[in-house]
Amino acid sequence: MRNVLITGASRGIGAETARQFAKNGDRVFINYHHSHEAAVRLAEELTDRGLTAAIIKADVSKSSDVGKMFAEIEEQTGGIDVLVNNAGIAQTKLFTDITDEDWDRMVATNLSSTFYCCRAALPYMIRQQFGRIINISSMWGQIGGSCEVHYSAAKAGIIGLTKALAMEEGLSGITVNCIAPGVIRTDMTSHLSDEDFKALASETPTGSIGTPEDVARAAVFLADDSSSFITGQVLGVNGGFVVS
Ligand code: NAP
Repeated sequence: MRNVLITGASRGIGAETARQFAKNGDRVFINYHHSHEAAVRLAEELTDRGLTAAIIKADVSKSSDVGKMFAEIEEQTGGIDVLVNNAGIAQTKLFTDITDEDWDRMVATNLSSTFYCCRAALPYMIRQQFGRIINISSMWGQIGGSCEVHYSAAKAGIIGLTKALAMEEGLSGITVNCIAPGVIRTDMTSHLSDEDFKALASETPTGSIGTPEDVARAAVFLADDSSSFITGQVLGVNGGFVVS
């Protein structure tokens, strides 16, 4: 049974990703920061269905928390075979209003967390000459989003990290890929009105808004044992909104 760690899995895309991996027969570690009850409910939902899941608390924007999380997982199971770096925050602000604190929090939560988790996961993956790393970026990291410069920069950083790390780990049987979702209905986009969603859908070639399942299924595909020749890629899950 593969061990899969999904960061930020208490809600939204991360929670659905945990469901899909668990359904796939993997043991999932549901990382959360604030949403303890939601994480417990999700783990119970999965274990009640006979699937294998455990919760693990860590603020992944902090290197020390990530270190403790991996130490705990290694004690329980040896190490992580599949890492999904999904935890993230967004914020809409004029560029000139972004404070130092906003910037630091954005970069720490979206980008530094990915660095900390990849670094912690890799020694085990290298030892076993197998690993799958999937980093959740955003289409705004590909094309830039107005009034989301700090978010776009952090998500673009994830794409750079993914491509470079894929090159470094290619001979170790480890693939590193990115998913760049378009607009997905979760808490992160709950500030958008139905009118906003309608307008965004009409600008999208498929005429629709994405779901957490769309992203989760792409993650399961990239993590498959047979996806070994796919690495360093950015997979857009965006209904054709961005074509690269
Ligand atoms: P969401 O519904 O707001 O959920 C965010 C998740 O991240 C929560 O489980 C939250 O955990 C966790 N998280 C935040 N900060 C954390 C930290 N410091 N340590 C650990 N966990 C943390 O967001 P979502 O829409 O599912 O987004 C998931 C990922 O997809 C993010 O990286 C986001 O940028 C990306 N994305 C989303 C969209 C979209 O349209 N929704 C589009 C493109 C990319 P707690 O509640 O437990 O704190």
